[in-house]
Amino acid sequence: KRRVFSGIQPSGDVQLGNYIGAIKGWVDRQEEKENYFCIVDLHALTVPQEPDELRHQTRSLAAMLFAAGLDPEKCTIFVQSHVTAHAEACWLLNCVTPIGWLERMTQFKAKAENQESVSTGLLDYPVLMAGDILLYDAHEVPVGEDQRQHVELARDIAQRFNHIYGDTFVVPVGVIPEIGGRVMGLNDPTMKMSKSYAHIRGHAIRMLDDPKEIERTIKRAVTDTGNEIRFSDEPERAGVNNLLGIYKVITGMDEAAVEAEFANARGYGDLKSRVAEVVVEALTPIRERYEALMQDVDALDRLLERGAERAQSVAGPKLDEIKQSMGLILRS
Ligand code: ATP
Ligand code: MG
Repeated sequence: KRRVFSGIQPSGDVQLGNYIGAIKGWVDRQEEKENYFCIVDLHALTVPQEPDELRHQTRSLAAMLFAAGLDPEKCTIFVQSHVTAHAEACWLLNCVTPIGWLERMTQFKAKAENQESVSTGLLDYPVLMAGDILLYDAHEVPVGEDQRQHVELARDIAQRFNHIYGDTFVVPVGVIPEIGGRVMGLNDPTMKMSKSYAHIRGHAIRMLDDPKEIERTIKRAVTDTGNEIRFSDEPERAGVNNLLGIYKVITGMDEAAVEAEFANARGYGDLKSRVAEVVVEALTPIRERYEALMQDVDALDRLLERGAERAQSVAGPKLDEIKQSMGLILRS
């Protein structure tokens, strides 16, 4: 089986883009793959987090992943900081990564703009991510479009390391959905929907929003002054295109069928109602399972403990292999 690794940050409320761009694909393909899904709390620390919030969000995210349909028998789901190899791999890979590679990352530039003080961790984020992936010899990294550049960087780091120290890493490929790989903010379709903005009114559909809230947010979504309901890459039609993309991925229909369905709609109001309907239908059972899972935090912690053990059993030996390649002496 092909090995899959992906991560998600406990940095706020999980939003529909995370589900459509990443989690849904993980769930749909979990049978075919050997899966490692990591709750990347060390990555979340690259921007300020309130400690109690971070603790809560980490468990909450675990519950969300199980609620969304990841099966702990088929997937190793674990917390990044529980497997110390990740932080160590980051250091080792830092030493083969030219700093210029990091300075040109667009996520760094965008996130740095929003911070009063930019941490070294924010610059180093993609190297930690490369370590995450390479420790598992993952072949595939299913992510949203915004992470394409970081997966490319992980490939570059793997290739550079292999070149300097000899064949050590599988060179991974990013797997990015063609539609749904970049869900846009409903308040601003020029900006991707993000967890860290999910608290801003009208920006995101959060996985735990109740049906009324979901309807309100979608009804308020920014569109344009036209009334034509079709897929389009024209910038001024980005809002409608975004709603259609959400509809397509949630229903599993193809583009032509989606457009045919709305051929007789009376404007964007109809589109919004239908999108809200299918989103509510998809999220309601997830929210219910989430609530049940959060009732028993001990059971959740036990699942994460088991995940960490399994992850450790792969990442530990791999870390030793990296250290040996680089000339470090292993403890006897
Ligand atoms: P943050 O704002 O803290 O960076 P985020 O919403 O970008 O949060 P991440 O934890 O950084 O979420 O990313 C988790 C996964 O979700 C990644 O695979 C990422 O590519 C994907 N993803 C994030 N936002 C979107 C989006 N708007 N559309 C599609 N995929 C997305
Ligand atoms: Mg992100």
